[in-house]
Amino acid sequence: MAKKILIDMIKLRAAMVENSSQELPEALYYTSFNSNGLKTIRELATFRFTCRRCEDAPCIGVCPADALEKDKDGIIMRHTNLCVSCKSCVTICPFGTMMTDFFIHHRNRDLFYDLNDEKELEKFIKASPTGTVSLTDEDESPEKNIYRLNDKVLVKEYLYITENK
Ligand code: SF4
Ligand code: SF4
Repeated sequence: MAKKILIDMIKLRAAMVENSSQELPEALYYTSFNSNGLKTIRELATFRFTCRRCEDAPCIGVCPADALEKDKDGIIMRHTNLCVSCKSCVTICPFGTMMTDFFIHHRNRDLFYDLNDEKELEKFIKASPTGTVSLTDEDESPEKNIYRLNDKVLVKEYLYITENK
């Protein structure tokens, strides 16, 4: 069985805090292209697992470009064609859900890796802060805070669970 990629969002956030000037590498992995632009693994994982899904979602209210909305499962989704990278949503989020470098357009394109390509995957692991990205034979394992993002990517994150969820 092919190994899966494990991205540790907990360690990634700590790495961002330790070195806020560091640009994190970005990974793209798609089984099929969606109609809403390229999304990085970090963005997909953040909105799926880190976001607390606020009922009033101040991030949506503050967005000057109407670029954010909730999908049918209540997961925030960003329309990349509308987003103007103002970072108002990053600033207003009371839980610091998004990392400080989210949604910056003028980025070093060399930092984007296509995880469908084995060589790019190797480079992505090397470029990521130590211990944040690895290959694993494991599968989803909630008791270890490991969750499945898609058929190739697992994410380690603390989920916020309320009593009525
Ligand atoms: S960064 Fe993009 S999604 Fe966030 S508030 Fe600004 S325009 Fe909206
Ligand atoms: S404000 Fe933050 S935690 Fe709340 S819905 Fe928006 S991104 Fe999620």
